[in-house]
Amino acid sequence: MTKKEKAAAITKILEKLYPNPPVPLDHKDEYTLLIAVLLSAQCTDIRVNQITPHLFKMADNPYDMVKHSIEEIREIIKPCGLSPAKSKAIFNLSQILIDKHKGKVPRTMEELEELPGVGHKTASVVMIQAYQVPAFPVDTHIHRLIYRWGLSDGSSVTQTERDCKKLFPVEKWIKLHLQIIYFGREYCPARGHHPEKCPVCSKYGVKV
Ligand code: SF4
Repeated sequence: MTKKEKAAAITKILEKLYPNPPVPLDHKDEYTLLIAVLLSAQCTDIRVNQITPHLFKMADNPYDMVKHSIEEIREIIKPCGLSPAKSKAIFNLSQILIDKHKGKVPRTMEELEELPGVGHKTASVVMIQAYQVPAFPVDTHIHRLIYRWGLSDGSSVTQTERDCKKLFPVEKWIKLHLQIIYFGREYCPARGHHPEKCPVCSKYGVKV
């Protein structure tokens, strides 16, 4: 079986398991999505969803956000971790959105990646979930799964992203990103997995 065939077989399994995967981070527009994704770095989606209602009650757009101090933002987002860096990034990126983008979240990877606190993965998530522009965000979990499935060599997230983009058809990327995340949470934890019960590896073999 080639890697491409395996990728197609896995896609079928994921499609059966998660036909309509919801976006895990609660948001109401591009700005609130961007902030939620930024907050989710090294934090669970559940925790982010507990915190964002408080933050967005205070400010749910860049104009209102910059009326508050970094310290005020930090107080609210503390439970998400890395609050000194994240609060600074939220304040500064809001100011940049106002100064350079008329208060809107930009629609290109380049412009998104220029924003403070927004790396390649965060930008990719915003592109697919806010604008439905195909991208393949790879976090540590997706990186692990793709390696365990033998579809990439595990050398770097950049390589994993490259391989995913080659192996999976572009029209499936947006949905697959979520499907792989849900599969990872349910079946493929970092430690303690059960290949014999696993819907993928019980059929196609496991790498580690
Ligand atoms: S067997 Fe293990 S490595 Fe393979 S998909 Fe299942 S949980 Fe992940």
